Amino acid sequence: MASALETLMELRDDPYSRARAWKERTGGSVVGFFCCYAPEELLHAAGALPVRVTGENRTVSKAGAHLQSYCCSLARTALDMALTGDLDFLDGTVFVHTCDTMQRLSDIWRLNAGYPFHVDFALPVRFEGKLAAEYTRAELGLVRSKLAHALGQFDDDAIRESIRVYNRNRALLTELYDLRRADPGIMPCDQAVWVVASAALMDKAEHNEILEEILSDLRGASGRSDRIRLFGVGSVMDQWEFLGMLEDLGGTFADDDFCTGHRYFEGDVSEEGDPLDALTGRLMERGQCACKHTPDRERSARIVQRARACGARGAIFFQFKFCEPHGFDYPAIKKALDEAGFATLELEMEQGSVSIEQLRTRVEALLETIRG
Ligand code: SF4
Repeated sequence: MASALETLMELRDDPYSRARAWKERTGGSVVGFFCCYAPEELLHAAGALPVRVTGENRTVSKAGAHLQSYCCSLARTALDMALTGDLDFLDGTVFVHTCDTMQRLSDIWRLNAGYPFHVDFALPVRFEGKLAAEYTRAELGLVRSKLAHALGQFDDDAIRESIRVYNRNRALLTELYDLRRADPGIMPCDQAVWVVASAALMDKAEHNEILEEILSDLRGASGRSDRIRLFGVGSVMDQWEFLGMLEDLGGTFADDDFCTGHRYFEGDVSEEGDPLDALTGRLMERGQCACKHTPDRERSARIVQRARACGARGAIFFQFKFCEPHGFDYPAIKKALDEAGFATLELEMEQGSVSIEQLRTRVEALLETIRG
């Protein structure tokens, strides 16, 4: 019988197979979302299965008629998946106001993808202060009403129960990252990042059970810890071949700030009081992404602190071509990492056209610099 980890790794070859099977088994609604700011707990409380769409490594065929070639490949390949029927199991989609690309993709998606319902979650851009919190809370209330209308009514107790399931998932993923920070050799980084990404592709309670098994094997395990520790910065990380190559060359990500990695599970939701206040609290307090403006909690300081905490000697920026938010953030974060003594490397890529060999030379150069 396949181990819990093998079960999850098999999912990497067909990421939506569990969502399809869940829909067939339960007759429930599967709802797509793109971003780790999406209110997954509300979707879960409404009885739906939230499933993350992150684009994929493919050549775009139909999306080119709607999106310029200078949109990021995440937007172009995700739309292509919808237009070619590869996401035909979706009953609806939730978009979050993050970058301009995603806000415009929402309109194009609503008009062309043809799913039964479509919800926008309009978060503030400046994500600090009382007004931003009040606005976020009101928007969550609006999203809740729209979901109840589309999927059926659900009460505060259902949301509290979903928060508990999601907090458990966050606690288990935090433990996985803690164990890897102590000894990155216990699990290759491509597997660790995939374990996190898979949490957004299947029923959370099932993912929790699988994680419990994986962690019971990892607690007390020891691996090869002589790889050079690096910190990963970026949005979606789905370049598994790249991560394998990084480890073959003697490096590894000991921690990261990918939105399909550490940023996905960072921060708990309070299980007390009003559940929408609690969800607002996490959205406001967690480490923010490049799309949000938080002048009092500068992102570069948090990244430097996290890079130090995992013993990294360098950092790799994994940027999507044409991604403005992460591009705008890059100079400040690089400067902060440079000043703190980290070697850095910026790699720009597009899903569907990543040349591992070209990246190999640049990663080798980074590792050589660190080795001295
Ligand atoms: S943040 Fe960047 S990578 Fe993500 S959707 Fe927006 S432009 Fe694309």
